[in-house]
Amino acid sequence: ALEAREVAAWFGDHLVLDGVSLEMPAREVTALIGPSGCGKSTFLRILNRMHELVPSASLAGEVLLDGQDIYADGTRAQHARLRIGMVFQKPNPFPAMSIRDNVLAGLKLAGVKCPDKDALVEQSLERAGLWREVRDRLNQPGGALSGGQQQRLCIARSLAVQPNVLLMDEPCSALDPTSTRRIEQTIAEIADEVTIVIVTHNMQQAQRVSDHCAFFLAGENEPGRIVEHGPTEQIFGEPEDVRTYDYVNGRF
Ligand code: ATP
Ligand code: MG
Repeated sequence: ALEAREVAAWFGDHLVLDGVSLEMPAREVTALIGPSGCGKSTFLRILNRMHELVPSASLAGEVLLDGQDIYADGTRAQHARLRIGMVFQKPNPFPAMSIRDNVLAGLKLAGVKCPDKDALVEQSLERAGLWREVRDRLNQPGGALSGGQQQRLCIARSLAVQPNVLLMDEPCSALDPTSTRRIEQTIAEIADEVTIVIVTHNMQQAQRVSDHCAFFLAGENEPGRIVEHGPTEQIFGEPEDVRTYDYVNGRF
């Protein structure tokens, strides 16, 4: 499992998250929901040590992957990012690089050797639901694909390094309904092997793809916190907090 314990985050002296504790079970899908600005993306970036790339950012609390603190002294951020991949709202393949090399790009950055690159490329694209569409054009540039295909290419690139966890920050919000469905299918398929944390503003999507759901909320001049978390059915069916009820029913 991936577990956050009492996480707090600042940009400069602006506290944006406080007291956030959440267990994200292994090989299940956890959805993070909540209004704009409540700290979901910040929380996601803390989970793979991307938060520390912002010069003004600081952090308190712990993030444990299978019981090990990813921020422990002597552990490298690069190591955390290899085990905990990330996919963003806007697909970001290397546009001029071939589809094949895009899939292998993460491995290359990490300096990981791979004995059978062709097999890995096929397997990663297959798992991302893109293989059949691109098998005959692996040498074409990544930028020549449609937006939905580019997003699946980015998922394939993340999967190629065989991460334990895949973080997805609104992966479908720039995509059409068909591409969205494809990505949701991919999530359902890879969730057998990979722990997934997905941020989404789409309540139907949260219900379709997730097993667990955490509702984040920030007050005016108050940091973001988790109001409630639990099984997705419970969060949508019988939430305990009236603010959760109002949010999932589109009332704010
Ligand atoms: P959205 O749903 O709109 O994507 P979010 O829940 O992902 O919102 P964050 O992007 O995590 O929210 O932002 C949380 C707070 O942190 C906001 O007040 C935002 O202005 C602030 N923030 C985010 N990134 C930075 C940054 N690089 N520097 C300063 N403040 C930031
Ligand atoms: Mg965000």
